Amino acid sequence: MAGKTYDVVVVGGGPAGIGAAFTAAKLGLSAAIIERHGMLGGNWTNAYVLSLLGIYTYSGKTKIVGGIADEIIARLKKAGGTSGKSGNLIPFRPAEMAYVLGEMAKELNVDCYFSSMATDANIKGNKVQYTEISGKDGRLRIHGKIFIDASGDADLVYRLGLKYMSGREGVGYHQEATLPFRIGGMNESEFVKYAKSRKGFASVSLRKNGDIDRLHILKPAIAAAKRSGSLYLPHSENMFMFNTSRKGEVVCNATHAPVGDFTNGMEIASVLEDLRKQAYSIFHFVKRNIPGFENSYLADAASYLGLRETRRAEGEYVLTKEDVIENRRFYDVIARCGHAIEMHDPVLGAYYTHLNGGDDSWYEIPYRAIVVKGAGNLFAIGRCLSAEFEAQASARVSGTALAMGQAAATAAYLSIKSGKPAKDIDVKKLQDMLRRHGALI
Ligand SMILES: Cc1cc2nc3c(=O)[nH]c(=O)nc-3n(C[C@H](O)[C@H](O)[C@H](O)COP(=O)(O)OP(=O)(O)OC[C@H]3O[C@@H](n4cnc5c(N)ncnc54)[C@H](O)[C@@H]3O)c2cc1C
Repeated sequence: MAGKTYDVVVVGGGPAGIGAAFTAAKLGLSAAIIERHGMLGGNWTNAYVLSLLGIYTYSGKTKIVGGIADEIIARLKKAGGTSGKSGNLIPFRPAEMAYVLGEMAKELNVDCYFSSMATDANIKGNKVQYTEISGKDGRLRIHGKIFIDASGDADLVYRLGLKYMSGREGVGYHQEATLPFRIGGMNESEFVKYAKSRKGFASVSLRKNGDIDRLHILKPAIAAAKRSGSLYLPHSENMFMFNTSRKGEVVCNATHAPVGDFTNGMEIASVLEDLRKQAYSIFHFVKRNIPGFENSYLADAASYLGLRETRRAEGEYVLTKEDVIENRRFYDVIARCGHAIEMHDPVLGAYYTHLNGGDDSWYEIPYRAIVVKGAGNLFAIGRCLSAEFEAQASARVSGTALAMGQAAATAAYLSIKSGKPAKDIDVKKLQDMLRRHGALI
């Protein structure tokens, strides 16, 4: 079978994967990204997760992620894709994000294999040899010295037959999925007037310049619409939207649906169909009923559903819920995260569990939580890091994913140079290198 060889092979071109591949290339390693969609960005660009959380603490006061993330954000600003920080997040627009990431990959000579799915993988002893990818041109073997599973679904770990976790412990169900969509042409000042006059029905927070940051249609308004049959929103009582960095344009994350088997194409089709129905209904509900939306239009919806949680790799350490809420520190820290546990539970409903240290605090991600057990040259990062169900509901945010990517690629560099398996590299050296390249640890 035809093949290619790289120093670092990254499966998945989402925030975690680009953090890894771009860092590897900057360190002089040859790197490839295998991505099933037609652009980089993962949930950012394919699922319209149009806000970068995790760069700051939950309160937005303290910056806790730097390095490769800073470069991406600066490039995005220059390209007009974001107007910068708003509260604790950085809202952005997807086309500019995909463009900027594509340009960076080209400049750094990262080989991107688009429309290509990693469908198999091979391990000899404890060394991953290759991943087999399938695309229009058939199958190809991509060999590497180091492999990084940034698929969000731990696909590589799964294909290699290594251990993984999936869903909530004991019951196995996943967090609910969402199909975000954009509404354009809203009149912000009309909505602000309405929110201020009908306090029980809508709320709004504004940026310093008076533009809308985020808005909520409140529960009484939603409950009434659902009762009257004018709103189809079967799995949620909340409606939240935020501005995408362009006046009058908002993205809505209100659609929700449980997902049983995320690997079953027919089930994904029926979940997507239901989420599109919800998006359509929400749009017509606000257009008909909420001042400011009268002349708005349904701009577009994400091309793929946003999966929050599926499989997680079993690593040398499993990040726990206690680690998160107790703000634990680790000798082998490689990243910080300050996001609350943000749970979209299909049975218990949506809930937040905040860190005990308060909203300006953080916990640390240990290196061992990205080193996959049973393989000497495999990392799992981002959504599929080694973490308990509830811990992942915090650590999954995209700023933290970028930081994990930078750490995995830097560790890959040290592993290749020293000839040592990933779990045995010098962690102090790793931390020094990360700090020198702007990581905040
Ligand atoms: C609805 C929703 C709202 C969210 N809101 C926020 C938010 O506001 N801010 C925030 O920071 N985070 C948010 N998150 C979380 C965040 O989007 C993800 O956790 C983050 O994208 C994780 O990055 P990742 O690279 O690990 O995974 P992903 O973004 O999921 O990227 C994985 C990539 O791997 C590719 N892939 C998967 N399997 C294969 C395969 N076998 N072969 C080839 N390619 C493959 C996928 O196509 C994808 O591009 C939200 C998530 C959802 C679903």
